[in-house]
Amino acid sequence: MTKIGLEVHCQLTKLESKLFCSCKTDYRSFEPNSNICPVCMGLPGSLPILNKKAVEKASMLSIALGCKIPPKISFFRKNYFYPDLPKNFQITQYNAYGPTSIGYDGKIIIEDKEIRIRRIQLEEDPGRLVYSGSSEKTQVTLVDYNRAGTPLVEMVTEPDFENPKQVRVFLNILADLVENLGIADPYLEGAFRVDGNISIEKGNRVEIKNVGSFRDIEKALHFEITRQQSLAERGMPITTETRHWDEARKITVSSRSKEEEQDYRYFPEEDIPKIIIEKTLLDSLKKIMPESVMSKKERYINKYGIPVQVAEILSSDKFYSDLFEQAHTEKNAKEIANLITTDLKGFADTKEQREQLKLTPKHLSDLADSILGNKITRNSGKVALQEMMKTGKTLSEIISSLDLGHVEDESSLVKTIEEVFIEEQKAVSEAKQDPDTINYLVGKVMRKTKGKANPSLTLDIIRKKLDSQ
Ligand SMILES: [Zn+2]
Repeated sequence: MTKIGLEVHCQLTKLESKLFCSCKTDYRSFEPNSNICPVCMGLPGSLPILNKKAVEKASMLSIALGCKIPPKISFFRKNYFYPDLPKNFQITQYNAYGPTSIGYDGKIIIEDKEIRIRRIQLEEDPGRLVYSGSSEKTQVTLVDYNRAGTPLVEMVTEPDFENPKQVRVFLNILADLVENLGIADPYLEGAFRVDGNISIEKGNRVEIKNVGSFRDIEKALHFEITRQQSLAERGMPITTETRHWDEARKITVSSRSKEEEQDYRYFPEEDIPKIIIEKTLLDSLKKIMPESVMSKKERYINKYGIPVQVAEILSSDKFYSDLFEQAHTEKNAKEIANLITTDLKGFADTKEQREQLKLTPKHLSDLADSILGNKITRNSGKVALQEMMKTGKTLSEIISSLDLGHVEDESSLVKTIEEVFIEEQKAVSEAKQDPDTINYLVGKVMRKTKGKANPSLTLDIIRKKLDSQ
């Protein structure tokens, strides 16, 4: 069985200042090495002061992911030498002597599968190495410390994922969550970085390090499954190692394994006292937190009878669920959920698509009501939706300009069906023997009416006609 575990790093990009000093979190807008101070540079004599807002944001995330929060949190030094780390240690959290990281033992349900969260820790980002060209072939490496000290949370899951798709769903929910909670902008370059651990049946564990996009981590995991399976089939060993995702070639590549096997010599960061997390703080955070994806999903299922899978897609993306919330009424909720998840999805998934979208909640609401009121068929509805997205015209404008309205009335529908019965005598006699072939006739009618016939009415009339013959 394939087992996948994740380590997800998410910068707290919505905070004003870094984790232990007053330099800006928005390091991207600065000239290299201009957003720094003695604290984030680790100069002798400087003292870190913990950003209270970072603790609050990380607590919110812990609550949202069903984690326990210890009464006291503490920080550790993770020691290693690398040019991007000016202090030669990273201040992070470590559960060596019982849980003292901001969250532990959480869980989240993905497609009816429980994914356990081992821990959530608050830590600082290192600086950034800038290469001229690729990192292997570069002659020059530049160091930019603007990022050093940027607050981030690392979320570590148990190896509970069985396939890359579950990973993608999880990451989408997570991205939505941090956006919802005002913690981070998940679309900002470098804000989300993922490491994946993956092993197939009886195989060793392989780690894929530092993948910057959700689409790429899914591809990297797929690639690893295929690579490991083909090794196993040929009786070759799967080595425990760290691999990198080569974006250009779309493959994982082995990294020099030695550099990863380090002893970080964790020890307590005595410059930061243990921080007491008051229950009153957690209670007040819970009050201001927006509805979680999970409870949103349950509400959609229980209140509106929206199917589980549709509710999952709808609730896991804030853009779509906001649109749903603004557009729906009790009566048309199911239809709107359907329109968003089957007809709109795919056309409004990226930031660029969303910026160009001319669709408003009223468009969706009008369209759903017209479909439910039999004023327009679902097929024509699809066409109208496309037009709304592109032009922003109202439904009535679109119906008249594209001649979409007017569902075939029953008498003219009967006439069309009679024509089809005459033209398709062979299919008619087949349908009499085998009801499964009726859809062929329905399709013919739909084509003749240019998709304007009501499919269920068409099916009823055809069935009756077949029975009476
Ligand atoms: Zn600083």
